[in-house]
This record gives sequence, structure tokens and C-alpha cells, in this order.
Amino acid sequence: MDIRIGYGVDVHRLEHGRPLFIGGIEIESQLGAVGHSDADVLIHAICDALLGAANLRDIGYHFSDKDPQYKGIDSKILLSKVVSLIAAKGYTVGNIDCTVILEDPKLNPHIPEMKLVISGILCVDPEAISIKATTHEKVDSFGELKAIKAYAACLLTK
Ligand code: MG
Repeated sequence: MDIRIGYGVDVHRLEHGRPLFIGGIEIESQLGAVGHSDADVLIHAICDALLGAANLRDIGYHFSDKDPQYKGIDSKILLSKVVSLIAAKGYTVGNIDCTVILEDPKLNPHIPEMKLVISGILCVDPEAISIKATTHEKVDSFGELKAIKAYAACLLTK
């Protein structure tokens, strides 16, 4: 069996007056993420992990942040396009493990819903999607609520 690993990282700035989308759902928050799309940092990291595992470049290569057709786009649509790209190369998702760094609000209550949304798009069991949340201990830009960051690792099989 052909097994490939991949990983992805993404960062978005946080500002007042923006919605906060993480893992395909909107989270109630004073601060929201800034981006060309809906700025869903977790889905973007997962897209890069999947693309990397299939050696298909990165999310910016496929969905340019200069392209008006992606302005404000729901990142779940981007993830479904990525699933098609890796499927075209004969890969299916084994499992994904992610970490989101956000100082506030707490994400743990929302993780079961994120797992359901993401596993639905990837057509895998929710058990194949692990999402972890941590703070940055009030240190640096993440700890000072200036930005949000996500890491994702994945296994693909052929
Ligand atoms: Mg991004």
C-alpha cells in the first residue's frame, strides 16, 4: 500500500468586527480572522496537509488570494475541491491530526461539531479527524490575540 504523510500550517490576523470561522463553523467571538476567503485557518491548514501529502503544491497555488472568485468563499468549498484533487491522483484520507492555537475563546466545546463537518466533506469517519486546541499562554502575537494559527498532519493511502 502507498502511504503518504503531509502537513500544513496557516496563520490569520485577528480583528474586531469580523466573523470567526474555524473548522467549517462560525464561533462566537469578539475578534474574527482576516483573509481573502472566510479565513478559516484550520481548514486551510488541512488543505495544505492534504495537498502536500499528494505532492500537489499548496492552497495558494490552486486558489489564489488575488482571484476575485475566491473572495469571501466558504473554505469548506475549497476543502471539497482539494478532496477532488487528491482523489484524482488516487488517494483517500487515512487520518488527520490538527492543533489550533487561539488564546480566546475556548474551542473545546466546538470540536465535536468541527469533526462532524470536516469528516463529512472528506467522507471519512469522524474518528479519523483529531482536532486539538491550545492557547499561546498570553505570549507573542498569538497570545496577545493578534493572530490565530493552525497545524495539520495527515496520512493518505492509495
Ligand atoms: Mg489561510
